[in-house]
Amino acid sequence: MHTEIFNAKTQKENGTNYAARVIRAGGLVAFPTETVYGLGANGLDGEAVERIFEAKGRPQDNPLILHVAKKSDVKQLWRHVPDDAKRLMDAFWPGPLTLIFLRSDIVPDEVAAGLPTVAVRMPEHKTALALIRAAGVPIAAPSANLSGRPSPTTAQHVLEDMDGRIDVILDGGPCPVGVESTVLTLVGKPTILRPGGITREMLEAIIGEVDVSPAVLRPLEEGEEAASPGMKHRHYAPDAEVVVAVGTPRRIASILCREYEIEEAMGRRCVVLGTEQTRTCYNGMNCDIIGDREDPATLCRELFSALRRWSGKVDVILAEGISETDSGLAYMNRLLRAAGFSVLEK
Ligand code: AMP
Ligand code: MG
Repeated sequence: MHTEIFNAKTQKENGTNYAARVIRAGGLVAFPTETVYGLGANGLDGEAVERIFEAKGRPQDNPLILHVAKKSDVKQLWRHVPDDAKRLMDAFWPGPLTLIFLRSDIVPDEVAAGLPTVAVRMPEHKTALALIRAAGVPIAAPSANLSGRPSPTTAQHVLEDMDGRIDVILDGGPCPVGVESTVLTLVGKPTILRPGGITREMLEAIIGEVDVSPAVLRPLEEGEEAASPGMKHRHYAPDAEVVVAVGTPRRIASILCREYEIEEAMGRRCVVLGTEQTRTCYNGMNCDIIGDREDPATLCRELFSALRRWSGKVDVILAEGISETDSGLAYMNRLLRAAGFSVLEK
């Protein structure tokens, strides 16, 4: 299969119309959203959705998010729209918040991976909205990476994983948020299954108390049931070992400097993913400053890109843990999974 690439700005009309036709014909289109690039198919066509799983090598039991272009579209996808969902949609849609509720009969089993619920989101990105509108159907889309790899935040990342496996890539430049949407289930007590750009604090300001699934920051225990099937699977892994240090910034820097020395002595190539605050701690070492500890959104934006940049180029990626407040929770959730929960503490 030949993968066509369109520039979402200079070839806006052409690109969107062509991609929309591909979606309607059952094909696959990667497109930018404000979070990461999505790999889209007609969300009401079970066979088209099957192709997403094939292209990504995604485990069959991991359900997909349906992307809509207007709030009222959820009515056809859910049994009914709960009041909390209405309030949250008014506050945060379009934006990086995915809501889960009981699905209607028009949602194919392939989308929900057999669950009685379906996840829905209205993205904020202009190209994503234009594509969904032109296609005239909800678009089922997971992140546009090979399953298990870091999510793509540029069209180049998508091409690395998907060239020859999908029909079209719409190139809309780098994604501004850089980590996937917050996933909140509204079945039972509202619970965050995956943290993202819309934080627990922001959700609680609208609907009151919100739980965070315990598996957000630790591996599932033996025999523990996954609230979200995605929690079971290896995620975001580059072709290098990832190790995270936690503690105060000064302690983190000293742990990482020591680890760097040990790894290098064993002949392993290393990089430190540093921050503005610790920049001067890694003199003479291979160091990539990826953001500001005081502003975790900057770290979220760069994390996946940095993991891909060093994938296959070093043996060990040494990363700094940060505080798990605000978007720090989303950052630590992705980083700990990329590291397979390998943490260094003093
Ligand atoms: P991705 O498609 O890579 O953005 O991942 C979507 C995430 O949402 C995965 O972790 C899924 O397991 C989760 N998810 C999607 N639909 C549901 C659902 N109906 N119930 C629980 N989790 C879901
Ligand atoms: Mg993904």
